[in-house]
Amino acid sequence: AGSASTSSIRQVKLDRESELRIEVGSDSPLRLRLLSGNAEIFGTELPPEIWLTLPPRLKIAVFTWYGATLEMDGATETDYTADETPMIGYVNVHAILEGRRSRARASSSDDPGSTQGPRVIVVGPTDSGKSTLSRMLLSWAAKQGWKPTFVDLDIGQGSITIPGCIAATPIELPIDPVEGIPLEMPLVYFYGHTTPSNNVDLYKVLVRELAQVLERQLTGNAESRAAGMVVNTMGWIEGVGYELLLHAIDTLNANVVLVLGQEKLWSMLKDVLKNKPNVDVVKLQKSGGVVSRNAKFRQKARSYRIREYFYGPANDLSPHSNIANFSDLFIYRIGGGPQAPRSALPIGAEPTADPTRLVPVNINRDLLHLVLAVSFAKEPEEIISSNVAGFVYITDIDIQRKKITYLAPSAGELPGKYLIVGTLTWIET
Ligand code: ATP
Repeated sequence: AGSASTSSIRQVKLDRESELRIEVGSDSPLRLRLLSGNAEIFGTELPPEIWLTLPPRLKIAVFTWYGATLEMDGATETDYTADETPMIGYVNVHAILEGRRSRARASSSDDPGSTQGPRVIVVGPTDSGKSTLSRMLLSWAAKQGWKPTFVDLDIGQGSITIPGCIAATPIELPIDPVEGIPLEMPLVYFYGHTTPSNNVDLYKVLVRELAQVLERQLTGNAESRAAGMVVNTMGWIEGVGYELLLHAIDTLNANVVLVLGQEKLWSMLKDVLKNKPNVDVVKLQKSGGVVSRNAKFRQKARSYRIREYFYGPANDLSPHSNIANFSDLFIYRIGGGPQAPRSALPIGAEPTADPTRLVPVNINRDLLHLVLAVSFAKEPEEIISSNVAGFVYITDIDIQRKKITYLAPSAGELPGKYLIVGTLTWIET
């Protein structure tokens, strides 16, 4: 395509401490390159002169500390430059975290507290830029040679694996703005729903399991322990959402709470955490560049994430359709359906459904189009406390022949014999 018109190529000159905010259109990708100067996308530096292909719908900012010239090839939904950003505040936080990491690494004390690097948790309402700030802090740390642990507790729009999960993974390199986080064996727990209200107790149990495993891993690894963690959370900050934030802060032993874009949340957290002198609660400005996403966009984004799991980000994977007998698969649901609210019960009665009860599921057509997790559990009793190996998608149920057809990332035997089902659905498009 050497003869392609070059008329769509535009140059953009950025002054120091400013950013180019781009929303790629929904139909075609955008090509972008750095011509001169230095620039980064959410903490990851752009290589000089190499064209990057940004996929449709991506929303990003290219920020420069000292000035840069960029070239764009293609149409965008929107693009504009902004010279008011919260980046100085963010990088100052990074500098303080760096100091704590170095001190933790240098500490020769036996006190486990002094060898523990910062455990940062990022909280705030929906669309306040939590995932983006988490990403920057991780990429800046990785650039300096640290391998911080990224923990994503966002079951709606998480960035480690498919929706409905909480997960953790070490970040060894600055995060690629296009490819995202490489999926080398993340630690994943399957919650199975995209909102915590489906089973709040189960959500807490899984956060506890994840925290325990990380604690064990970090005890044996001084380097990772000093690098610390960055924890991304859900945008649900009222009522039960707030309770879950406190639970996460406590369970993961967070010692730095970064509050984005809401004064009230900051002041509430500061107040409840005031008797924990080793926990800093810091208020940070929300970026004007954060794009709000409505329920429909979020639903679509979830669907793309699941598609990406099976087919790869660039349609570069070929999942396999497998057929099994009903009797080969052992499917469980956790919790006895939605719990009855106390208000719906007779006065004095207690809700009886156990939210972490394991319920065997009979295979029928209700399973069609659901995404199930494959547990590492060796016994059914281990299912709740086990992480998962991956996911399958149910594409057909033949009641007469007692056969079930499912899509899996590869052919052959599943990595475990117990499957977990929730309410996570997907319609293949
Ligand atoms: P959630 O409510 O899902 O938890 P969040 O608070 O984590 O959202 P982000 O995912 O960080 O918010 O940001 C929302 C969107 O805005 C993302 O698509 C992100 O890439 C985009 N975004 C964030 N900062 C900027 C910026 N400075 N310029 C352009 N786009 C941005």
